[in-house]
Amino acid sequence: MLKFFQSAILESRFRFYLFIFAALFFSTGAAADKSISIADIEGKKYVLIDELIDVFSIEHSFDPVFQKGRLYYKSHYMVYKTGYSCTIIDNSIAGSDYPVIRWKGGVYLPLDLARILLENFYNREADVVKGKLVVKQDIQNDKKTPVKDRIPDKKEKIGFIIIDAGHGGKDPGAVGKGGVKEKTITLKLARKVEALLIKRKVNAKIKLTRTADRFIELADRAEIANRELKKDTNGIFVSIHVNASISSRISGFETYFLSQNPTNEEARKTAALENNVVILENPGSGKKKYGDVDYIEALMMTTQIQKESSFLADSVQKSLDKKITEFKSRGVHKADFFVLRGALMPAVLVEVGFITHKKELGYLKTDKYQEKLAEGIVDGIISFIAQYNELID
Ligand SMILES: [Zn+2]
Repeated sequence: MLKFFQSAILESRFRFYLFIFAALFFSTGAAADKSISIADIEGKKYVLIDELIDVFSIEHSFDPVFQKGRLYYKSHYMVYKTGYSCTIIDNSIAGSDYPVIRWKGGVYLPLDLARILLENFYNREADVVKGKLVVKQDIQNDKKTPVKDRIPDKKEKIGFIIIDAGHGGKDPGAVGKGGVKEKTITLKLARKVEALLIKRKVNAKIKLTRTADRFIELADRAEIANRELKKDTNGIFVSIHVNASISSRISGFETYFLSQNPTNEEARKTAALENNVVILENPGSGKKKYGDVDYIEALMMTTQIQKESSFLADSVQKSLDKKITEFKSRGVHKADFFVLRGALMPAVLVEVGFITHKKELGYLKTDKYQEKLAEGIVDGIISFIAQYNELID
């Protein structure tokens, strides 16, 4: 009887040690995968950022004014903005079908983006297992190829075209003899470009940043464009302006794309002229906003977007040159235009002519010449899209 009790105790002790041993083994070994819950919000799958940073030791900062957040882990980072479907992960653009949202006091990241984020930050496979997002911790699961390569490359078809009529409202832009305002000409041109794109049955959504004499801050113009970015849709941004010079003899049309190193002194002056509007924007907000797009700017300078923008600028300038015989082509230039900063897509600024040149101003005011300019811009856009879409097929 005693023997029986002793062996029972021994057996239970043995089971206890076995349990401890197993617990130790699994806690330090393969089974300690990290996971977070998946929320279903109006039929879409999300993860709560607060839970993500807790479980995965990720650092987070959020700017409630601009609804923009950053997530960091070692040398990795992600930048997101609520209401946006596209984010930046380690210098690449990663998109979802639906945007980052604020819901019941928390910020939620679309499940597919959370997965790309974790795979990139941890270099491990992230999977949905039993309704949770799980990152496998065992070494065998380490990625052989960098996850970065698996972020969808920015090679989506052009699905939308943003036409930006320069200036508007309290900002007239350049003013010519007889009180002709740049903002009036640019709006007329933007509408003509829109009508022509529709007439030519361009297979893309067309959107104007303004359709009336309205003031819009420069940074908001790029935001209007970025809001259209979806997982499989890229777009282009075309800003239309009229140039001015202290010399009344200078005439002609030119196209710009964004660069911090202007082509020449004239390009720098043109950019300074167009950027001047910043002082009309809400005091304080302007400076902060431009500081805030630093990361996008850095991205634009170093990636594909700048190459694509230069390609779009060439295409528009070439087509304009074919259409316009009255004035000369001044070519393609690089300059730092605030309105182009922050647009996460090929973006150009067209200066259609000089309001300070008597003869050119006469032309710029007429419907007929505006029609010709619009045709040139549209031809350039169409040929760019055709080549771009062909390249990515
Ligand atoms: Zn302008």
